Amino acid sequence: MSERVIPLIDYRIASLAARLPAQPVGATGLLVDTLGRPLNDLRNSVTDRCNFRCSYCMPKEVFDKDYPYLPHSSLLSFEEITRLASQFVAHGVRKIRLTGGEPLLRKNLEVLVAQLAALRTLDGAPLDLTLTTNGSLLQRKARALKDAGLQRVTVSLDGLDDAVFRSMNDVDFPVAEVLKGIDAAQAAGLQSIKVNMVVKRGTNDHEILPMARHFKGTGVTLRFIEYMDVGATNGWRMNEVMPSAEVVQRISAELPLVQLEPSAPGETAQRWGYANGGGEIGVISSVTQAFCGDCNRARLSTEGKLYLCLFASQGHDLRALLRGGASDADLASAIGHIWQGRSDRYSELRASLPAEAGGGARRVEMSYIGG
Ligand code: SAM
Ligand code: SF4
Ligand code: SF4
Repeated sequence: MSERVIPLIDYRIASLAARLPAQPVGATGLLVDTLGRPLNDLRNSVTDRCNFRCSYCMPKEVFDKDYPYLPHSSLLSFEEITRLASQFVAHGVRKIRLTGGEPLLRKNLEVLVAQLAALRTLDGAPLDLTLTTNGSLLQRKARALKDAGLQRVTVSLDGLDDAVFRSMNDVDFPVAEVLKGIDAAQAAGLQSIKVNMVVKRGTNDHEILPMARHFKGTGVTLRFIEYMDVGATNGWRMNEVMPSAEVVQRISAELPLVQLEPSAPGETAQRWGYANGGGEIGVISSVTQAFCGDCNRARLSTEGKLYLCLFASQGHDLRALLRGGASDADLASAIGHIWQGRSDRYSELRASLPAEAGGGARRVEMSYIGG
């Protein structure tokens, strides 16, 4: 029998109560945290399950058949997600990304998409509604998602070499099926399709150039993500991180790149355009160049806990308020109060923290709160 790591603290249980502040916080769209950062972007995890076992996210040895996934009754219903989302929108959220686990494993996800697509920002505009997926079910679902009002999609793909990809997803899933999913998304009319590649030095860095060549000129934006020390199970080591600067250098040596202006404040990716045309790539330097200074993202877990940082060890339990009969104004007030107290900036502090994860606390898994 293989040895399993038994978590000493289950971060899903050790949550913070979301309290109603004595002084109600109205939803004015002008909310800022202690560092002056607004709340514009909500990442919503709709399941903690996945059909892949990427070693950097859900290593097989931990996420095996005995892993205590959340029971269905713990998950927020679509109505609960939409009700909370509308309060986030009232505070200034303009963009919602559905994630997981693998979001397309959540049954009838298009029903949730339709509900969220009906929300309007404070100035009456539709939300920027998108989804991150491993692409395995996209071929089947792209059309229904688009028809329900999804605007964009990001597909994760860590290489074009079939053997490399099968080994990275660790369930022997072929590249060809993900590529068909991307084609289906394009054919369905989903806009600004992005492909995310997590680069692990020594594992798939030789796939950087083949990926760049493949997606150049296709209208798909390829983005390279530095391998991050999220969660507590992936055995992260700094020497497996390939700095984005090196990725850019490698591509530029064959396909010259020029740096482009950011397209939106708080954007995580640095943009680079092909000097001779053919679109752009992005690099997300979460490890080597922290971007906490304008981090405007909140994360809502599958069971309704609000996390203020990808590297947080505890979330604020909004589900308890929701199921305890809180009014919309109460929910907005609780969310506002929590955001007003936010001071998280883990990536900026990483180098100065003790080597143990999160300065000793067990951090939440990426598959639980989404990327
Ligand atoms: N299952 C979906 C997928 O893979 O696209 C959505 C959830 S996944 C947690 C969201 C994103 O996080 C993916 O693009 C994935 O590659 C990225 N990710 C997961 N673990 C990571 C890590 N340790 N470092 C950097 N990115 C990671
Ligand atoms: Fe699943 Fe996405 Fe995590 Fe891979 S990165 S294990 S596809 S949730
Ligand atoms: Fe935002 Fe936390 Fe990432 Fe910094 S480390 S950019 S605060 S999620």
